[in-house]
Amino acid sequence: MPRFLSDGPLQAIAADIEAGRYKAKPSRVFHFEDILEAHRVMQSNEVRCIHCPHLKENPMAKPCEHLQGVTAADFPPPRTPDACEECLKEGTRWVELRECQTCGHVGCCDSSGGKHATKHFHETGHPVMRSVMPGATWSWCYVHEAEGRLA
Ligand SMILES: [Zn+2]
Ligand SMILES: [Zn+2]
Ligand SMILES: [Zn+2]
Repeated sequence: MPRFLSDGPLQAIAADIEAGRYKAKPSRVFHFEDILEAHRVMQSNEVRCIHCPHLKENPMAKPCEHLQGVTAADFPPPRTPDACEECLKEGTRWVELRECQTCGHVGCCDSSGGKHATKHFHETGHPVMRSVMPGATWSWCYVHEAEGRLA
């Protein structure tokens, strides 16, 4: 999915530019590459410049090869269905659950006290997880900090 300058964290900077308050690099304000660099928007290959109608290639983008072609069928059966593996052992509670594509580990999300899904990535290097909440179809690559959609 292209990421637009009006989206999420870029909304503030887009508003600043429109209001003439953007001061990061005054002489090159309209060079969207500089804006991207300043804000480390590296998740997408394509970025729409708010000052022109063209989609441009983001030169800093590192395409995520981990999420390409990944579908729900590429995930193994969860090791601990409907539960965070570490929270089960520790007796702690979780908010939402994420499943590791590599090994089927189920860990809790970053809004949970344990943050066990993210810890699992740091411990194992397994790059891709998905939400296993009812109805959720998104995945996430920790390496590239990129979001995917599961077909
Ligand atoms: Zn990746
Ligand atoms: Zn947990
Ligand atoms: Zn894993």
